[in-house]
Amino acid sequence: MLYLVPTPIGNLEDITLRALRVLKEVALIACEDTRHTRKLLNHYNLDTPTISYHEHNEHDRVALILERLQQNQSVAIVSDAGMPGISDPGAVIVRAAVTAGFPVTALPGPCAFVAALAASGMNTESFYFAGFLPAKKQARHNALQQLAQIEATLVFYEAPHRIHECLRDALEVLGNRQATVARELSKHFEQYLRLPLKELMHHFETHEPRGEFVLLIAGYNPVEPAPATQTESETLLARIETLMQERGISANAAIKLVSQERGISKREVYNQWIKK
Ligand code: SAM
Repeated sequence: MLYLVPTPIGNLEDITLRALRVLKEVALIACEDTRHTRKLLNHYNLDTPTISYHEHNEHDRVALILERLQQNQSVAIVSDAGMPGISDPGAVIVRAAVTAGFPVTALPGPCAFVAALAASGMNTESFYFAGFLPAKKQARHNALQQLAQIEATLVFYEAPHRIHECLRDALEVLGNRQATVARELSKHFEQYLRLPLKELMHHFETHEPRGEFVLLIAGYNPVEPAPATQTESETLLARIETLMQERGISANAAIKLVSQERGISKREVYNQWIKK
């Protein structure tokens, strides 16, 4: 059996009795970082052999792990925190084991976005987990544009040094939607900030972002009049200016939004803008 074993995301108590038993009984634990996992194993007096299994050797390790499964041994996969395979290594070996016909199972347990979503107060009936947004501004804008019409709650992981620019870009592309920042879950300084995007962005201008973050943004709401309907009477150029003023965005970003709102090409909007 190949086991995916979730581990604590901040509080060592968040490990199940079953996870401890599996970690004790398997022949081998494949770890994202063996030193990191060793601390957890030491804490629970476990001395199961470990090997490294991370994004740089994920493909090479597959053969070794499949060989152990072939010998009827069980192997556990763990990442540094939370559920392996969720924004963490794991998916490659799972696919390989499934393809080779070995049984694969995941133990239920800690996963940052599930905890954040459950306590966010936002729509949990449907959600879209988007993982980490791209680091570069243009790519991040494009990724957000792709998500703009999704009605489910949007869920992201984000690093502290990028949370402010991520909120700023989300505000530019999605408008001032309701959002939640879930910070340092299960740790001493756990915090939920449930505010519109603009206020969240301002919050991090006066509070240095520290720790680990999950960002949740309300999905597109088709019941509210869509921007195109709200602004039907506005001329194209007036709409660009309104967006620039209201959202504090560049002419280029506003041109992109208007082209989407009105269903006309960016080039056409741009040509009208430069003729003004
Ligand atoms: N596999 C993990 C899981 O199941 O949640 C996610 C691993 S991913 C590399 C790490 C990201 O998860 C962090 O950058 C942060 O966005 C989020 N995260 C992990 N632990 C967290 C915590 N205690 N509080 C808030 N976010 C957390």
